[in-house]
Amino acid sequence: MKTFIFDCDFQVQPGQFVNVWLPRIDEKPMSVAFADGKELHLTIADVGPFSRAMHELKVGDQVGLRGPYGKAFTFEPNQSIAMVGGGFGSAPLYFTAFHAVQAGCTIDFIIGARREDLLIYRERVEKLKGATLHVSTDDGSVGHKGYNVEILQKLMNEKNYDMIMTCGPEVMMAAVARIADEKKVPAQISLERYMKCGFGLCGNCCVDKTGDAICTKGPVVPLEYVKQVEEFGKYHRDDLGKKHKF
Ligand SMILES: Cc1cc2nc3c(=O)[nH]c(=O)nc-3n(C[C@H](O)[C@H](O)[C@H](O)COP(=O)(O)OP(=O)(O)OC[C@H]3O[C@@H](n4cnc5c(N)ncnc54)[C@H](O)[C@@H]3O)c2cc1C
Repeated sequence: MKTFIFDCDFQVQPGQFVNVWLPRIDEKPMSVAFADGKELHLTIADVGPFSRAMHELKVGDQVGLRGPYGKAFTFEPNQSIAMVGGGFGSAPLYFTAFHAVQAGCTIDFIIGARREDLLIYRERVEKLKGATLHVSTDDGSVGHKGYNVEILQKLMNEKNYDMIMTCGPEVMMAAVARIADEKKVPAQISLERYMKCGFGLCGNCCVDKTGDAICTKGPVVPLEYVKQVEEFGKYHRDDLGKKHKF
C-alpha cells in the first residue's frame, strides 16, 4: 500500500470518496484517507492494473480527481465508538477518528491483518488522544492471534458502545454487523461496490433488493439498511453486472 498526498482544497467528510482518473488507463473510486482543505490523502493497495499504475506514479505526475462523493460516517459529540478496520478500510476510519476525538468521543480502534507488516495506520492511531488501538494478526505476529472481530466481541462483553463503524473486507463487515445486531448497538458500514460514475447515474453499483446505487445511498450506510441488502456478505457484481461470491 502507498499513501498519496495531493495539494487539493476539496472539503471532504470522513467516509466520502473521490474518483481518481489516470488518463488512458482508468478511473476508480478511492476513500479519502485524510483531508484538511489543503491536502488530500489516498491510501491505495496495489491489487490490479489501475492501482499498479498509481503505484508507478512519480512526484509531479498528474492525475484527475473529482468528488467528493457519497455519504460520510456520522457521530455525536462525546460518544463511545468502536471502529473495526481491515485492509485500506483503516484509512477512512482513521480520518473519522481524527475528527471524532476532537468532538470528545472515545474510540476503540480495532485493526486486523494477516501479518504484522500488512497492518496500516497503527502509528497514526496511537498518536490520537482519545483513541485506543487494538491489533490482531492471523499468524499472531503481533497483538491478538485471530480476527479483529474477536476483539470487538470481547470488548462488547465488557463495555457499552454508542456506535460501531466498520470499513474493510465485506465478510469481516458482515461479522461486525451480526455482532452489532445481536447486541442491539447502532452501526455504520462502508459498502464497496463496483462504482463508475460516482453520482447515481450509471447504475453499476445498484444492490439487490433495494435497487439503490451505493455511490449515492452510501458508501456508508446504517446497519438497518444493510439488513435489507440481500447480497450483503454474500456476493457483489463486476463491471458487467456479473455476480461474484465473497
Ligand atoms: C467507495 C470505494 C472506496 C474505495 N477506496 C479504496 C481505497 O481507499 N484504497 C484502495 O486501494 N482501493 C479502494 N477502492 C477499490 C478501488 O476502487 C479499486 O477497486 C482497486 O484499486 C482495484 O482496481 P484495479 O484496477 O487496480 O484492479 P482490478 O483488477 O480492476 O480490480 C481488483 C478488484 O477490485 C474490484 N474493482 C475494480 N474496479 C472497481 C470499482 N470501480 N469500484 C469498486 N470495485 C472495483 C474488482 O471487482 C476486483 O475484485 C474503493 C472502492 C470503492 C467502491
